[in-house]
Amino acid sequence: MTCVQQNVGEALVTGYSTQLITKLRFSLLGLMLFIFVGVTTGTVMVITDDRKQEIVNAAKTMQSLAMVLSKEADSTLALADTVLSNLIKDLDLHRLDAFSDAQHIHKVLEHQHQIMQGGGEVPSFAHLFILGPDGSVVANSVTYPTPKLNAAERDFFVYHRDHPSYELHISQPDYSKITQERVIFLTKRLEDPSGTFLGIIGIHLKLRHFDHIYGSLELPPGGTVTIIRSDGWGVYRYPMAESFFKKSIQDHAGFRKMMGQRAGYLKTTKSPYDSTLRVAGFYASDKYPLLSIVTVTHDSILINWLQSAIQISIMVGVGVLFIIALAFFSYRQLGHLNYALELSSHDSLTKLRNRRAFDDRIGEEWRRAIRGAYPVSLLFVDVDFFKLYNDEYGHRTGDKCLIKIAQAMEKDFVRAGEFVARYGGEEFVVLLPNTDLSGAEKSAMHLLKAVQGLQIEHKQSSVSAYVTVSIGIASLVPVQNMNKDDLVEMADSALYAAKHAGRNQCAVYTDTD
Ligand code: GH3
Ligand code: MG
Ligand code: MG
Repeated sequence: MTCVQQNVGEALVTGYSTQLITKLRFSLLGLMLFIFVGVTTGTVMVITDDRKQEIVNAAKTMQSLAMVLSKEADSTLALADTVLSNLIKDLDLHRLDAFSDAQHIHKVLEHQHQIMQGGGEVPSFAHLFILGPDGSVVANSVTYPTPKLNAAERDFFVYHRDHPSYELHISQPDYSKITQERVIFLTKRLEDPSGTFLGIIGIHLKLRHFDHIYGSLELPPGGTVTIIRSDGWGVYRYPMAESFFKKSIQDHAGFRKMMGQRAGYLKTTKSPYDSTLRVAGFYASDKYPLLSIVTVTHDSILINWLQSAIQISIMVGVGVLFIIALAFFSYRQLGHLNYALELSSHDSLTKLRNRRAFDDRIGEEWRRAIRGAYPVSLLFVDVDFFKLYNDEYGHRTGDKCLIKIAQAMEKDFVRAGEFVARYGGEEFVVLLPNTDLSGAEKSAMHLLKAVQGLQIEHKQSSVSAYVTVSIGIASLVPVQNMNKDDLVEMADSALYAAKHAGRNQCAVYTDTD
């Protein structure tokens, strides 16, 4: 009687191993998905966070710039305001008869103009002027005799005529009738003590003044500096856009928001002038009805971000692809391994498990039975007179016969835990875990009838007209010191007894065997 040896290599070759590998393969798929979704989501989050941060940082910088520029504009306007107020006082321009000495007024204005120039070329202020109640030029700081000009149609003149206020008025940009240069008119209303409108006094502020300051900021392409009056009319824009002078943006949502907040930033605002998306920092003057806005385009801010986002994406993408490729490769290799294990644990003819698989399985069930202290039974099945069958019908028909018997056995033992294998040649084994001797006997009888019921003709059999089997039955409750091979030997020994007793029958192992 041969002893079945088990070794580590064989232990792998089992149904359990293939199940394990299948689980492993699906875990790998899950891992791949997890890595892909996790890393991709993480990267997208980091990149979008970076983008937000980049925009917020730029917006805060714009806000600081807007504040500085607003203060700068305030000081220029305050200077003009002071100069004009002093001239009103010095020339006593609250009386209409003060206008009669045009030459004197011209000299005072000219002197003031020279002071403001500081003896040199100061580009900020062009010249000072006074208009009478009908809009005609009374005097200016540049020419005498006074040129015959009338500015009654100018918006600042209309404004002062209709608004009794001492506040400095800041006009929209326009061309000076004297210097033909683009200027802003900073003006104040003149009136007598009874409030009668006497005309205006004003000063030209050259737009070049702001260009000089704002141009030096070196904003990135698409960046702008804008000063808007609180009524939505533009006062200054760098770089200049003609559309800027043509409309009020009072109804523009971004402008309204800025006017509401007074100081701050907008992460995204669409320009009312060129429809470009920009980040804007803004600051409303405390002294004058002006809003300073500094903007940069999203494109110019995000160019660095985009570069690093692309770099990060490529690096992460390559990493993820590498991991996925590795996982996919392992997945495929495990598939091959599984297939190889399936092949090596199955009998190619009958498709039943083979002896290696049985050896491993019986080891598993043996240990389990010891732990649970329950019986294990084994049926050792051998086809009767099979050599004669082959001789009579040929080896190929013999093969088909074995396949039919194998199928019948599998069909018979479909309960979970039962295990059928081809042990070798025309011998099969059926492992019945948690089954006592009487249960095993019932199964064996059932199998005996099932094979005979196949009615496979066997002329050379001396026990039946059909192919029959003999079955050796062994059953025990294993304990620690026992060896699983004992069970196999017992069943084999019982099979010998069944053969000896005449075949086509079952025999139970007894100690006397
Ligand atoms: P017994 O009733 O005592 O078991 O007699 P037997 O002829 O079945 O036993 P023996 O051991 O003398 O012969 C077994 C035969 O089974 C011999 C061999 O040709 C045949 N056999 C073993 N494996 C295969 C197989 O895969 N295919 C076929 N067709 N025959 C096989
Ligand atoms: Mg045999
Ligand atoms: Mg035989």
